[in-house]
Amino acid sequence: MSRVELMPFSSIIFFDNKIKEKIINLTSNKLLYEVEFELIRRGYRKCNFIHIDPLRPDAMKIIFENNFHYQVLQSIKKYSGFAHTHYSPNSLEDTLMFTAVCSDKESLSIFANAYFKGDHKTIGEMLGYPKCDIDFFVKYWNEHLDLVYPSAMNSTKEGDVVYFDPRLNIMLRYIGLRIIPHFPCSFQCPNAIKFAETIMDIMREKDSKLVDELLDVLSKPVIFSQVNGIIQVEVYEDKSFTKPLFIIIQSGYSSEEYRLKMIPRWENE
Ligand SMILES: [Zn+2]
Repeated sequence: MSRVELMPFSSIIFFDNKIKEKIINLTSNKLLYEVEFELIRRGYRKCNFIHIDPLRPDAMKIIFENNFHYQVLQSIKKYSGFAHTHYSPNSLEDTLMFTAVCSDKESLSIFANAYFKGDHKTIGEMLGYPKCDIDFFVKYWNEHLDLVYPSAMNSTKEGDVVYFDPRLNIMLRYIGLRIIPHFPCSFQCPNAIKFAETIMDIMREKDSKLVDELLDVLSKPVIFSQVNGIIQVEVYEDKSFTKPLFIIIQSGYSSEEYRLKMIPRWENE
């Protein structure tokens, strides 16, 4: 396996107009983003990372309204989708400010220091993630950067099928659709499910229909594959895998090749 360096990108191809409308509605909903700040307000986490566009600094409003503390960590080049590597911007229009936001000054200082030192353990703890998932991240991050595959390898399998709990479906996060904002150590991890339930409860208080619609999309079978550093997420209506509803194409990080047949299955709590 070798590292593949592509400029980050994310693209989506729709094969069904109804699902297209649904996905556009879901991805434009601010609650998916705002719930991450609500977790700080309610004490489930100390901090969060955000990207602030200097020309459209909407996120500053949330920071000031909540008396959060913040520190710009790095100016980075704008990208679409999901990126693990930061590039330098060429102009202001091209810039995002990668920023730490915390509940208090002391946490901000610890969090920012952990970021500059690459201390993933402290960062994960302050983001409120389960310990098993932090250990999993620390173990696999440097080698893989995208941890869907190692997580699938730790998950329940039957023949060529890997089961996933829809609450832990992070395979659509490239277009911003997910409940949990982190990589679970397996797609059945009880601690990650508990964290997902907390997030869903907060979202339901504000918009329960949104949660149902999100879960509906996250409960669809997926073929998750990678070849030559291109990740492909094919989302199907049912497990006959006949016709995809939509396909996400996302820049990956390694030459590693795999193809996973992912079937949704709810875990009991
Ligand atoms: Zn876990």
